[in-house]
Amino acid sequence: ARSIGVLTSGGDAPGMNAAIRAVVRSGIHWGFKVMGIRKGYNGLINGDIFEMSLRSVSDIVHRGGTVLQTARCLPFKTEEGIQQGAAMARVFGLDSLVVIGGDGSFRGAKDLSAHGIKVVGIPGTIDNDIGCSEYTIGYDTALNTVQDALDKIRDTAYSHERCSVLEVMGRKAGYIALNVGIACGAEVVLLPEKKFEFDKDIIKPIIEGRNRGKKHYIVIVAEGVGGAIEVATEIEKITGIESRATILGHIQRGGSPTVRDRVTAGMMGVRAVELLKDGIGNRVIALREGKVVDIEINEALEMKKDIDDNLIELSKILSL
Ligand code: ADP
Repeated sequence: ARSIGVLTSGGDAPGMNAAIRAVVRSGIHWGFKVMGIRKGYNGLINGDIFEMSLRSVSDIVHRGGTVLQTARCLPFKTEEGIQQGAAMARVFGLDSLVVIGGDGSFRGAKDLSAHGIKVVGIPGTIDNDIGCSEYTIGYDTALNTVQDALDKIRDTAYSHERCSVLEVMGRKAGYIALNVGIACGAEVVLLPEKKFEFDKDIIKPIIEGRNRGKKHYIVIVAEGVGGAIEVATEIEKITGIESRATILGHIQRGGSPTVRDRVTAGMMGVRAVELLKDGIGNRVIALREGKVVDIEINEALEMKKDIDDNLIELSKILSL
């Protein structure tokens, strides 16, 4: 029988399990042998590969993290590592591979495709930072986790009339920061995509807010900007408003996936296997204009998306 390998690579994200499950179940449904590969490309190189059954993905649809585990695999960035991976795929009779991860993971998949393995990428990252896709699995869950945390921080900021500075994940992208900023009414959102000046873009809106009667403030700092502690110290020094920094950290990567992430994972996982069923490889699954589509892998890796300027403007108006 034709066989599909499935792995998760790079940073983990809630909904990866739902995607694994979708690949395994649809793969078996269409007559494939499906093999799980542990710890990303490390497992491919080391032969940490096992056959999966319909039941091996029972009770995981609601679980965060990834049951296949994930890793960053430095050797896979070298031609030698790619060749080792391709050789091990042959040992296990894998003719195709579904890679759930980010841009970096898709680059590895592309290199592997040069060795005759049909690869399909599924976007999985909380950061939503994949150029070809409007949406990545895990993003909605992370947004909700950050929203929940910020609502709690707001309670205490109100009680103490403080300025709360929250640093959120997103790597070089500000999608989490901007959207939670809107959802939670942040006064200031610092995004890696936009240059800012401390006085004009942080201090001035806080002071103007105070003059209009505000008594507590929320500042969101995206990971790609960083330095939340320094930002809080500086705000307190200049304005005299007591300020506290919170770096949310890895809590953002865990938790039970939301409906949106589970359903998207299901649709993307099935689409990936459908392509392989039709003998098509070297594609990345993406969401475009709200629909699940697939894009040639080189083309997908070239694509860029911008943060929405209208949304940035809107976040400023809503926090007046
Ligand atoms: P993500 O997939 O979330 O972007 P990384 O960038 O850390 O995460 O990539 C995950 C793994 O994919 C890396 O550890 C490496 O094994 C592989 N990878 C990343 N970039 C490349 C590349 N340029 N060529 C081959 N493999 C790569």
